[in-house]
Amino acid sequence: MFRPRSLIRLLTHPLISTTRSLTRYVILVTGISLVTALGVDVTSQLVFFADWPTALRSWLLTVVIVFIIAIPVSFTFGRSQQALLLAHRELEQLSRTDQLTGLPNRRALMEASEQADFDAMVLVIADVDRFKTINDTIGHRAGDAVICAIGQIMASHLSQFGLVGRMGGDEFALIATNARVEDIVLALINLRETVTKTAIIAADNVANVSISAGIAIRDPSISFDTVYSEADEALYMAKRNGRNRIELSERVRLAYPEVFARSASG
Ligand code: GH3
Ligand code: MG
Repeated sequence: MFRPRSLIRLLTHPLISTTRSLTRYVILVTGISLVTALGVDVTSQLVFFADWPTALRSWLLTVVIVFIIAIPVSFTFGRSQQALLLAHRELEQLSRTDQLTGLPNRRALMEASEQADFDAMVLVIADVDRFKTINDTIGHRAGDAVICAIGQIMASHLSQFGLVGRMGGDEFALIATNARVEDIVLALINLRETVTKTAIIAADNVANVSISAGIAIRDPSISFDTVYSEADEALYMAKRNGRNRIELSERVRLAYPEVFARSASG
């Protein structure tokens, strides 16, 4: 159904992201301008009719003037709208990206957890062990390099399960909505081993680190804050039990006793 308001909105706030949509916009504006100007001119020439050559000349002139004005004006406006939209998208992207690692940041992770449609969500929080020592002994820049390297290793091992991002500091998270806890635990055991075996080149130094991780599960009846504190508790347990470990939240231990046995042996 034709809605004048949506047409006005389309003309004044066009969503232009590609050259194709810019071309469509220029054609639309020029077409509407042409129909409107010709409508007015045809009416006026017929009401105040002098002769056909005069009327035809006037209509031709109207068409030429509309093309001369509407095409460059709509093109310029459309281009600025396109630039605005692209800048807005870039800003949106930046606001959800961790500047150091290039991974999704805490905000992106929180949004993913809120938007996801899931029966069971798995949340993993992983944290570098004794990271402060890296900063204190080989410097903050080396610390940054370690964070980047751990982020990359985490992403390469866990991205297949869901969104991997940096929560902040030396803490990373995985939010998985369509994966089996068993598979995630196996991948985490693998990840933990890879991290301990990797010599990270960090600002002219070589750093060897380990990570600890906590795993929790969430069904739609519990809030993200609850599952986060359960994963955090499991992580705390991993730290308390000697670090370089993976621990499951109580809810996971009860729901998946066989996984518990596997993570304990890993
Ligand atoms: P734990 O094994 O208990 O985790 O000990 P830890 O030393 O790793 O302690 P914690 O995780 O609390 O330390 C995080 C440190 O990370 C604290 C802060 O100084 C440092 N940090 C936070 N953000 C950055 C960053 O962007 N770059 C660097 N180089 N260090 C950071
Ligand atoms: Mg740490």
